[in-house]
Amino acid sequence: MPQLGFGVWQVPDDEAEKAVATALEAGYRSIDTAAIYENERGTGRAVAASGIAREDLFVTTKLWNSEQGYDKTLRAFDASLDKLGLDYADLYLIHWPVPAKDAYVDTYRAFEKILADGRAKAIGVSNFLPEHLERLIGETSVVPAVNQIELHPQLPQQASREAHARYGIATEAWSPLGQGKGLLEVPAIVAIAQKHGRTPAQVVLRWHLQLGNVVIPKSVTPSRIAENIDVFGFELDDEDLAGIAALDEGRRLGPDPAEFSVGA
Ligand code: NAD
Repeated sequence: MPQLGFGVWQVPDDEAEKAVATALEAGYRSIDTAAIYENERGTGRAVAASGIAREDLFVTTKLWNSEQGYDKTLRAFDASLDKLGLDYADLYLIHWPVPAKDAYVDTYRAFEKILADGRAKAIGVSNFLPEHLERLIGETSVVPAVNQIELHPQLPQQASREAHARYGIATEAWSPLGQGKGLLEVPAIVAIAQKHGRTPAQVVLRWHLQLGNVVIPKSVTPSRIAENIDVFGFELDDEDLAGIAALDEGRRLGPDPAEFSVGA
């Protein structure tokens, strides 16, 4: 899985087609969408039009809360592949655990079938807390390849990253730029950016990469799409990393996965 990919949350279908096309031209090869984003068709159109060989692309999509359960999951996966216009997904994720529904184990058993059938090359989860991972791993056979969680300098998710390391799960950071809200103006980040002759967004993405996270920043602006992938030519030093570590506020921008049940 490429360590840096492109996310399309909140991008309407037509705009997603343009943004994904721009991202693929800029060199991204990994795209993160979801059934609930309602832009799997636009994503698929951009992928098809790119002419890039299928094996060089990495497409992730996610199962929405309303479709949890064994049979519904199989049908929802078919619908996602159909919209994407693909024969297989590279990664399929359970979008949220929805513990109140208590269906994520059954749902994941359907994921295991999809994996066994070769229709997803890898399966994983999103927004799972360590307790949800522990139960899932105890009751099913395939350890999730990935847990995609909210993660940025103001929410570095130490406990989850430690749990992932114990299980051999890759940590994928959603809202890696803190949704561009405030984080990119934090003086410590701005100062590190000035020191390296880089932008604040590049510093934050570099921090993720050095931590070992997979990142999927979103932008619909071509210059930012290019800026966000140009993060391999510099290195943050220990002082920079310590400065960023001090920004931990333990505060989520998004919902608490223990409670979130929209659509379920
Ligand atoms: P993000 O942290 O990637 O921030 C995106 C915003 O930051 C943009 O809309 C723009 O306003 C700003 N921005 C982007 N590049 C910039 C730059 N170079 N300079 C200045 N500002 C810049 O936020 P996100 O979209 O929430 O998260 C990224 C992806 O993560 C999503 O598109 C989606 O694919 C995924 N995601 C998953 C979940 C989940 O529940 N699994 C939830 C949210 C997001």
